[in-house]
Amino acid sequence: MPYIREIIQEGHPTLRKVAKKVHLEELKDPLMQQLFDDMFETMYDAPGIGLAAPQIGISKRIFTIDLQDDNDEHGPFVVVNPKFELTEGAEWRKDGCLSYEGYIGETERYTRVVVTGFDRYGEKIRLEGTGLFAHCLQHEIDHLNGVLYIDKARNVHLPTEDEDEEDSDEGGAAVEPVEAAVAGD
Ligand code: ZN
Repeated sequence: MPYIREIIQEGHPTLRKVAKKVHLEELKDPLMQQLFDDMFETMYDAPGIGLAAPQIGISKRIFTIDLQDDNDEHGPFVVVNPKFELTEGAEWRKDGCLSYEGYIGETERYTRVVVTGFDRYGEKIRLEGTGLFAHCLQHEIDHLNGVLYIDKARNVHLPTEDEDEEDSDEGGAAVEPVEAAVAGD
């Protein structure tokens, strides 16, 4: 049974470490498979659209991602040892983090990325993203390098009531912060 793990908050040293590469042999360990299930459970419960292993205190190069829209190219995925194959463009977008609860800000990130890595069974995967999905991929990979969005963000603040309403009413990708909120929720 998957269970919800504690999401650690900014100030915890594990969030600032460069996470370790996973040996593909480790994926055969039932405890590792349990970890993936727990990460999904924890991410959906938060609720969030992305979660990196360091956020639950595990300093390994793993994240889960699921925009929870109707597009199966947007997850759910477990991504192990991710690498950028391509990055292009730049755009500012709302950002938020389950490890910096309550706040939102804006970060400038690539508009389009291609990320390669391995799935939970060690099969190669290749994810292409634009917009929210691209930003979320970059947000999660930053976590694996000890970087939080607040390091590069502008206008980090507690959302106003208007912004809360905007998010829940429209639920569209354009107003949804990365990681910390679920589209349409
Ligand atoms: Zn985050």
